[in-house]
Amino acid sequence: MDNVSAHSPELNPLLEQFTPSAKNALKRAVLVKEETQDLNKSTTTADNRKKQKMDDMSSGSDSDYAKYWIDWFLETKGNEYYCEIDEEYILDRFNLTGLNVEVQQYYAEALDMITDNLDEERFDEKARDQIERAARHLYGLIHARFVITTRGLAKMLDKYKKAEFGRCPRVLCNMQSLLPVGLSDIPVTKTVKLYCPRCEDIYNPKSSRHASIDGAYFGTSFPHMLFQVHPNYLPTKSTERYEPRIFGFKIHQIAEQHRWQDRAREEYQQKLLKAKEQEQEK
Ligand SMILES: [Zn+2]
Repeated sequence: MDNVSAHSPELNPLLEQFTPSAKNALKRAVLVKEETQDLNKSTTTADNRKKQKMDDMSSGSDSDYAKYWIDWFLETKGNEYYCEIDEEYILDRFNLTGLNVEVQQYYAEALDMITDNLDEERFDEKARDQIERAARHLYGLIHARFVITTRGLAKMLDKYKKAEFGRCPRVLCNMQSLLPVGLSDIPVTKTVKLYCPRCEDIYNPKSSRHASIDGAYFGTSFPHMLFQVHPNYLPTKSTERYEPRIFGFKIHQIAEQHRWQDRAREEYQQKLLKAKEQEQEK
C-alpha cells in the first residue's frame, strides 16, 4: 500500500474500493515497474512532440500519417466507445505498470506509436502491422485504467450524457442511456457489454464492430464506479413491469381460472358418484 500511495495519489481513493487481491495485483505491478524501469526510454515532452507534429503536417505529408495516432484511432469506425486518454496519463509511466507483461511483443514500440514517437521507417510492413496491433491492445489496457480515474470518469460521463453508447432496448426503460462494461478484467476473455442502470441488466452492442471489442478495455467496475462518483446521474429504478396477458386477462388470472374449473369439475364428479351410491343403497 505504501509503495502504491507513494507513486500516484490519484489512485488512492480508488484503491480503498478494491478487493485485497486487486490491491496485491497493483503492488505486484509496482514491483514489476521498478524492475523494468530502464526498459522505458525517455520520451520527448508533449510540447516538443506537438511542435514536431505541426512541422510534419505543414510539410504536406499524407493526412493519415499527419494525424496523432490517438486521434486516428478514436476516429476509426467501431472505436466510438473509447474516450481520449489524456497524454499526461500515458506519459506517467506509473500508470502503465505491469502492462509490459500483457503486451510482450513490441511493448516499447507500441507505446511509441501511441505517443507518436515511433520511427516507422525502421520497421518492415509485417513488423509495423504487429506494432499497430500491439498499440491497439495497449491503448485498450491503458483505457481500462484511465476510465476509472476522475478525469476518465468525467470524459465517459460526457459520452453517457450524449448516449454515445446507445440506449436500453427494454421498452419500460424509456430510452435509458447505457454504459460499456466488461464481464472480466482479464483481456481476451469476454467481449464488451452494455449496462443499463435502470433495469440493471446487460445487453449486447448492436453493431458487430462494437460487439467484438474486448470487455477488459472497460473493466468490470467502470459503470458502477461512475455512479459512485456521480450519483446524481443514477436514474430512478424502474418498478414498472410488463405483464403478459391473453385477451386482456393476466396469465396468472387465467391459470387461476383453469385451476378453479378443474376443482369444480372434480367436486361435481364426486357429488355425482355419491348420489349414485345413495341411489343404489335405497
Ligand atoms: Zn434497461
